[in-house]
Amino acid sequence: MTTPPICDYEGSDYQTSFWDKGGREYEDRTEAIALKRLLPPPALVPRTAGHGARESGHLLLELGAGAGRNTPRYTGFERIVLLDYSRTQLEQAQKRLGKSDKYIYVAADVYRLPFIDELFDAATMIRTLHHMADAPKALEQVKNVLGAGGVFILEFANKLNLKAILRYLLGRQTWSPFTLESIEFAKLNFDFHPKAVRNWLKALDFTIEKTLTLSHFRVGLLKRIVPTGILVFLDSLFQWTGEWWQFSPSVFVRAKKVERDASRIPPNEQGNILSYFKCPDCGHAPLTDKTNYLECSNCMKKWQLKDGIYDFRAPIEK
Ligand SMILES: [Zn+2]
Repeated sequence: MTTPPICDYEGSDYQTSFWDKGGREYEDRTEAIALKRLLPPPALVPRTAGHGARESGHLLLELGAGAGRNTPRYTGFERIVLLDYSRTQLEQAQKRLGKSDKYIYVAADVYRLPFIDELFDAATMIRTLHHMADAPKALEQVKNVLGAGGVFILEFANKLNLKAILRYLLGRQTWSPFTLESIEFAKLNFDFHPKAVRNWLKALDFTIEKTLTLSHFRVGLLKRIVPTGILVFLDSLFQWTGEWWQFSPSVFVRAKKVERDASRIPPNEQGNILSYFKCPDCGHAPLTDKTNYLECSNCMKKWQLKDGIYDFRAPIEK
């Protein structure tokens, strides 16, 4: 099966070099504020159709979880599945968050998600669409695993940002920020037009409930001379203008999967982790637990489980 190329953070010190020591405190804090504004309050996390009767629930899928920087911000969810293509990123997340039933670590390709349909109550994808060569295809996968009425919080890098507009108008940039196609400004790094993202979401039966713009003051000079707390406060005010226009480098949207058919067959009890998975190659579910790996009884492929991380990137060699 061929899928689009993947931006792999395997072995990367991204968390340390970009976030911890990279002068990104401003960006990190504005994201924390946006997530608080977009996440449903704990009591209102929708129990999607068919999930009502179960004891536990509130299952969140975090796509592109990396080293788990945002994970502790997803309060109100009983269980979080952290998905990343890089196993070493997940190992860092595991160190940060610990091994418990609350967090499930899954190394997988976003174009071949190893989950049964309509499993999750909510999903987040922050600073991840940025690396998707085929963004609509990735979004379609998210739609498939999200239950009806489920909430999807998506962040994307905005090509229609003020800096790109100025550069273009001054003739210092060849590509137009005003057209709908994505721009790959570095290998496997894409910026998107807000309208293009809205169109993709609508085509997939999502309704957009809220839009916030972020990082209005992502300018090196400002970040050096103005105290971070002040920039964060100003940005938190400007975030609301995202409802009317989006000219900031980063945009957050809360989308909701349209509820269509309440008579769908509810997924299994969410308490049983094994019941979440399907074979990413042939789609068969459930997989059989063989202690150190999960086996597909249809195509006989084996998927590794090692040190608490499920690995669905490639099957174990026979
Ligand atoms: Zn299979």
